[in-house]
Amino acid sequence: MRKRTPLLLLFFFFLCPVGASPSSAPDITITPFKIGQGEVGLLTIRKNGEAKPKVIWMGKNTALIEDKKNGIWWGFIGADLTTRPGRYTLHVRLASDHDQYSKTIRILSKDHGIRHVTVPREMVELDAPTLKRVMQESRKVRGILTRSDEYPLWSGRWILPVAGRVVCPFGCRSIINGVERSPHSGVDLKAAEGTPVMATNKGTVALVANHFFSGLSVIIDHGGGIQSMYFHLSKALVRIGELVEKGANLGLSGSTGRATGPHLHFGISLNGRMVNPINLIQISRRF
Ligand SMILES: [Zn+2]
Repeated sequence: MRKRTPLLLLFFFFLCPVGASPSSAPDITITPFKIGQGEVGLLTIRKNGEAKPKVIWMGKNTALIEDKKNGIWWGFIGADLTTRPGRYTLHVRLASDHDQYSKTIRILSKDHGIRHVTVPREMVELDAPTLKRVMQESRKVRGILTRSDEYPLWSGRWILPVAGRVVCPFGCRSIINGVERSPHSGVDLKAAEGTPVMATNKGTVALVANHFFSGLSVIIDHGGGIQSMYFHLSKALVRIGELVEKGANLGLSGSTGRATGPHLHFGISLNGRMVNPINLIQISRRF
């Protein structure tokens, strides 16, 4: 058996296209390898030259940042609550060669639970002017989430904006006054009225506005397709266009908009997909 090994190696060598031999194939890892609906995976690519690789996930560019100490590029890939379970292909192209490498990733169905909420009737049964307002606000937010700055401003670990525990998790189906509405697109963190709210990472303030459902809201564009959202604030301490550092005080928590009491609603959009922010923070802890 041992005598036949060189012949076998020779056979595989000629089968491999130029640039894709086992020795030059990039070292690409995704942690965890299987991603649930609404969850995030950490992508790392071992450095092979100085130029940044190009990564396409679900038809969109994935931003990578450099970790010089560990000799890798890293970034996030995610699936939202509406991503159909199944196999998806991640495409990677290194600047140093012409071959495209791919990795198959499984998206699993995930049950995020259910919550029942009771709010005043006028907060769910909207009159025509309110409905118009809500649709305008929703279009405005959608525009911000699909127009991220190309270059990442974020780095290292992502942090929780307030220290409070999760009082309502990400993704749970929402039964509001007995009717099923959109699932929860972020997490609700326990925060007494007036608690300072910190930026989860560095970025540019993309929105400061008082919206019908989300109340006084701040959105930060972290670049590279990632934005973070802070809703129901009682006070905003930043202005649109301002560059904020990780941990900067963006405002104070409150209960403005459709809220049953003071808390912070915290959300993260990754390439236009709402993902579990706690999940993203946890997987960034390795940096
Ligand atoms: Zn919420």
